[in-house]
Amino acid sequence: MENETKMDQETLDQIKQELMDRKNKIIEDLNDISREDSHEADNRSAKFPEYGDKPDENAQEISEYSTTVETERILEKTLSDINKALKRIEDGEYGVCKYCGQEIYPKRLLARPTASSCIECKTKLQSS
Ligand SMILES: [Zn+2]
Repeated sequence: MENETKMDQETLDQIKQELMDRKNKIIEDLNDISREDSHEADNRSAKFPEYGDKPDENAQEISEYSTTVETERILEKTLSDINKALKRIEDGEYGVCKYCGQEIYPKRLLARPTASSCIECKTKLQSS
């Protein structure tokens, strides 16, 4: 049981590598999006007509329009989480829950390297 709850150097290196790979992938994706953006910038106002009166129509129009914007937003958020995780590794603070200060199970971190809270706290937050 001890081995499952303690982070070792090998696991940490593996997680760091995973974070770096994800980071590079996201930067590539963001570059792709910004190229598309500049390409389509002229059409943007035409593609974003005035809001309709029905909430459903609004939602549909916005979701079509905002796919790229939304993707970009999510990528930037993820990139920021990755950078924070890498910073925590550098500072030797990685793998500690930001709410209760307990170590996060390495298994959870391998599955979700950007996690900054343990499962117990995450569950509590989601149910409250
Ligand atoms: Zn916690």
